[in-house]
Amino acid sequence: MTVDEVEQVVADAGERRFRARQILHWAHARGAESFDTMLDLPAALRAHLKHRFTIGMPATSVVSRAADGTRKLLIRLADGEEIESVIIPADKRVTLCMSSQVGCAMACEFCATARMGLHRNLTASEIVGQIFAARRELDRGEELTNFVFMGMGEPLANYPRLIRTLTIMTSEWGMNISPRRITVSTVGLIPAMERLLAEIPGVNLAVSLHATTNELRSRLAPINQRYPLEDLLAACRNLPIKRRSRIMFEYVMLAGVNDSIADARRLLKLLAPLRAKINLIFYNPFEGSTLNTSPRAAVEAFQAILKNGNLTATIRESRGLDIAAACGQLYAEQHTAA
Ligand code: SF4
Repeated sequence: MTVDEVEQVVADAGERRFRARQILHWAHARGAESFDTMLDLPAALRAHLKHRFTIGMPATSVVSRAADGTRKLLIRLADGEEIESVIIPADKRVTLCMSSQVGCAMACEFCATARMGLHRNLTASEIVGQIFAARRELDRGEELTNFVFMGMGEPLANYPRLIRTLTIMTSEWGMNISPRRITVSTVGLIPAMERLLAEIPGVNLAVSLHATTNELRSRLAPINQRYPLEDLLAACRNLPIKRRSRIMFEYVMLAGVNDSIADARRLLKLLAPLRAKINLIFYNPFEGSTLNTSPRAAVEAFQAILKNGNLTATIRESRGLDIAAACGQLYAEQHTAA
C-alpha cells in the first residue's frame, strides 16, 4: 500500500496519521512479518490491522545456486502460480532480476517464458515481495544494489501495478531506493515507455531491439508489427532522458540470424541519432528452441564494429546457466511439461 492508503486506514481506525509511517517503517525497513511485532503502535490499532489486512513474506519453494554465485528463487504465489527471481552478484553489485507477470503474452521467439503464454499479471505486493524473498537468500555482507525488471513478463504490459511498485520502491516512506538503481526492460511498448519516464523520472529504460530490419524483428519480437522499428527509435529519440544518461538497447546474438557484419553496420546507423548504449547478449538455448548462440568471435567482431563507430557496446556474459537462470530461460519448472 502507499502512504496515502495507509493514512486512510489509520484515520478510519480513529488514530493519528503519523502512525501510517510507523507501520510502513516496520514493513519496509524492519521487514516485519506480523502486526504483533509493531510494539510502538497502540494495541487497538494492531488488532484493527490484524483483523483487516495481511502482512508477510512470499513463500520461496526452491532456491538453486549456480557455480558463479547466481541464485534463482522460485516463489510460490497464493494461488499456486510460481514466478522466478534471480540474484546476480558481480563485484560490488548485487542485482535482483525481477518478474512482473506470470508468463508473458509477447511471444518473443528466443524466450522460454514466451512458451507459457500469459497466465496473469502480478500484483504490486507480489512484485515487491520478490525483494523481501531475495533479501532472505543473501549471503553475509551482501546487499541488493540494483533492480532490473528483466525476469518473466513484459513490465509495461502490467503498467498500473508496475507504477505502484516503483512508487513503493522509490519513496522515502517505502523502500527508499534511488530510481537510478532500477532498470525497466521493455520489448518496446511505446506509449507506456513515454508515460513511465514522465511518472518515475530517473528510472533507467532498457529496450530489447534484437534486429535491424522490421522483417526480422517482427519474427523475433512480434510486437514489432504494432510498434515498428522506425516508430520505436523515433520515440526513443524524444524520450526525456536525463543529461549524461543513455538508453540501453539489448541485442541477443543469434548465430546466422542477426549477427552479421551487415547487421552491425545497420545497427550503428539506426542508433547513431540517439543517446544510446548497447548490450550484446549471448543467447541461452532452452529445450525446443531452434536458435543457436553466436560464437564468441562473431560477438566480438560485432562489438568491434559498433565500438569503431563510437557506440558504447558491452558484452553481457551469461550468468547462472547451470541453473537455467540466465536471460530468456525463466520458465517456471511446473510448466515445463505443459
Ligand atoms: S523476452 Fe520479455 S517480452 Fe519477450 S516473451 Fe520473453 S518475457 Fe515476454
